[in-house]
Amino acid sequence: MTSFKIPKPTELTKFYINGEYVEPSTDEVFTVRNPKDDTVVSDHVPVGAQEDVDAAVRHAEAAFKGEWSTFTSAERARCLYRLSDILDEHLGDLLRLDTLTGGHPVSLIPTREKNYIVNGLRYMSGWCDKFKGDYFPDDDGFVKIVKNEPLGVCVGICPFNSPVATFFHKVAPALVTGNVMIIKPSEKSPLASLALAPLIERAGIPRGVVQVVTGPGKTGELFSRHMRVRKISFTGSIATGKKIQAAAAQSNLKRVTLELGGKGPNVIFEDANLDNAVEWALRAIMARSGQICIAASRLYVQRSIADEFIKRYVEKMREAAKHMGDPFDPDTAYGPLVDKLAFEKVRGMIDRAKAGEAELLVGGNSIGKTGCFIEPTVFVNPRPKAEILTDEVFGPVSVVSTFDTEEEVIQKANDTEYGLMSGVFTRDISRALRFSSKLETGIVGVNCASILNIQVPFGGVKQSGMGREFGMDVLRSFTETKTILINTRAT
Ligand code: NAD
Repeated sequence: MTSFKIPKPTELTKFYINGEYVEPSTDEVFTVRNPKDDTVVSDHVPVGAQEDVDAAVRHAEAAFKGEWSTFTSAERARCLYRLSDILDEHLGDLLRLDTLTGGHPVSLIPTREKNYIVNGLRYMSGWCDKFKGDYFPDDDGFVKIVKNEPLGVCVGICPFNSPVATFFHKVAPALVTGNVMIIKPSEKSPLASLALAPLIERAGIPRGVVQVVTGPGKTGELFSRHMRVRKISFTGSIATGKKIQAAAAQSNLKRVTLELGGKGPNVIFEDANLDNAVEWALRAIMARSGQICIAASRLYVQRSIADEFIKRYVEKMREAAKHMGDPFDPDTAYGPLVDKLAFEKVRGMIDRAKAGEAELLVGGNSIGKTGCFIEPTVFVNPRPKAEILTDEVFGPVSVVSTFDTEEEVIQKANDTEYGLMSGVFTRDISRALRFSSKLETGIVGVNCASILNIQVPFGGVKQSGMGREFGMDVLRSFTETKTILINTRAT
């Protein structure tokens, strides 16, 4: 058992640089609020300015070339595994800090959150001494060796919706491959990322290897334009992803991976197990109250089962509304949206949909007066190109359409610039495989939807992203390939 005092939100007023909390270079701060009731949680979270960003990068470079570079792969694995044990002890309290500003229910911490974070770190630690290069024999007079070398200073720019999970999904592969990382958390949920930073060194990882600098988008931009940062691993919206890609190109062509938004189609054929399809459809739009990139927000149901599916789905969404509430209540399954901005955006999309874009079946209202709660909402029969059908809502709102044939529905499912995750529900294995091949998404669930698995690559096609996280693929994205040719005929 390691003793660790979780700081109060108002105590988190400094950056974590080179193994200690340091004063910001300016007085600029930002406020985080509780989406449950709009009260202020802290009005003193520091904004990283150029000087702070430069300091973090300088220390990161020193750490990259220092003691960390002498660690064997087995030592790196031991550190990461130790970190997973330390986090296992403290994660509950740490994640409560993010519940204060992000609204994610504490009831989900012991299961879903721990699984993603602790087990994800354990899985990644196992790669340290297994990720290797390649070798080709000297049949042509040259021995060829291919090495995977670390990039150096990497920066993780994180979204608001799973701050700690994203933190470790970026830090772990960076460290497995010998890099160092600075995390820039979202300005909407920065507290747990700042609070947990000292635990990294307790696991035996040298100071400067992982640092945390808070701030809004402009702090992220300082990192994306920085000439000594070698990689940005970004998770967030498409609009921001494009800005980061442009900043990287205009500065030093740093490597960029982008995990962006989604508008996941779930296609339910008439031979599907209906209970299973309804259950996944519910989970896939209600997890984090719809604030996940892999939310299944478009449902396509074959006409012969549409009435029955919609009846059961709507019942489930009505039931879900009863479990929406105070995220600190252990019986709450679904919390508020993250802030007023998100709340107004979702409300606007619902209002425009109600005004003639689609037919409202359930929900469609906000709950309460001060918080950011939106009822679980289902629309049917959207008009073609309706905003609610084409744009990411990032709230508990789905649209159900009906279809007759496989050809018709594949065209509809793919008629989007998004391409993150899709689901296909059928008992026909041939159709499942045929249809999975045609779906233009990076991940396809067969008889499931909207789930992550750390063992296999995760990421989007089209505008949902570039590059992959998880599995072995993420390790490649944190390394540069170096080829060495050895002339065996030289004397
Ligand atoms: P966002 O793009 O608004 O912000 C994400 C991060 O980018 C924040 O830390 C923000 O401060 C920073 N940022 C903003 N402007 C910047 C700039 N010009 N340069 C550098 N950094 C900048 O996204 P969000 O609202 O926090 O998250 C929601 C979005 O993230 C949704 O679109 C969702 O689908 C997506 N998302 C994707 C995945 C995935 O794995 N594909 C996972 C989670 C969330």
